[in-house]
Amino acid sequence: MSVELENHSQNKQDFQADCENCFGLCCVALPYARSSDFAFNKDGGTACRNLQTDYRCSIHTNLRNKGFKGCTVYECFGAGQKVSQMTYSGNSWRDNSELAEEMFRVFPIMQQLHEMLYYIKEALSIEEVRLLHKELKQVLVETEQLTEMSPNSIVRLDVSSHRAYVSELLSKVSEIVRANGKKHSQTKAMKIDRMSNLIGANLRDANLRGSNLRGAILIAADLRNADLRNCDFIGVDMRDTNLGGARLTGSIYLTQAQVNAAKGDRNTKLPGHLRFPQHWLD
Ligand code: SF4
Repeated sequence: MSVELENHSQNKQDFQADCENCFGLCCVALPYARSSDFAFNKDGGTACRNLQTDYRCSIHTNLRNKGFKGCTVYECFGAGQKVSQMTYSGNSWRDNSELAEEMFRVFPIMQQLHEMLYYIKEALSIEEVRLLHKELKQVLVETEQLTEMSPNSIVRLDVSSHRAYVSELLSKVSEIVRANGKKHSQTKAMKIDRMSNLIGANLRDANLRGSNLRGAILIAADLRNADLRNCDFIGVDMRDTNLGGARLTGSIYLTQAQVNAAKGDRNTKLPGHLRFPQHWLD
């Protein structure tokens, strides 16, 4: 592992949910609809009935079996603890009802900013895009500054514009990583269009090395033993995607939440900073 990758691993805890230091914001602020991912409907701003007074989930160890698979694949990228402990200095919506509505608006914006920071940090860990590191550092600082603004400024932030600006730079990184992957491919990679609807697609053993999978819908697709090295996974829907034996090393913008949503096994090769979900090992 390179020094940069080690740094990425060390910093990644800042971009993982720390529920101990969060007021259960994702379980209150966000809405969800009854589906295979959630057992009942819930409005945004209403506490989930499984949320306890200590902000812990009463079914935390059994979410998948209780019909809450969606909760196991949600990632706040550390926005929960940031909003709870920094933006609101440890003041909870529960004890300060006048703050609740604003806090629930701040949280999803912070989640987006932290997701961007996660990707920027990952890009900064990649040696082959060193030429872009100066620009990446600049956008990192700017994005961090946005997360430190007052709640009132955060709710007025044009997060879409900032995302577009960040996205442009992340795309340049992606192009370099994918081109390098293709260069090393022994056989010609299969062509896949971005944003493709590949629900249930049979892509077993496919060579997709260096593909731009951005926004693709790979729900329940069969990617067993596929070559997914150096792919761009930003925004890919990987619910129940079968990654058994697939190779994903060198891929970028793949998150732990996406991996958790997929199926896999001990033979799946993941980038070093991601861990095997327990349900792959059971
Ligand atoms: S089921 Fe648990 S993790 Fe999911 S929203 Fe409710 S309290 Fe949160």
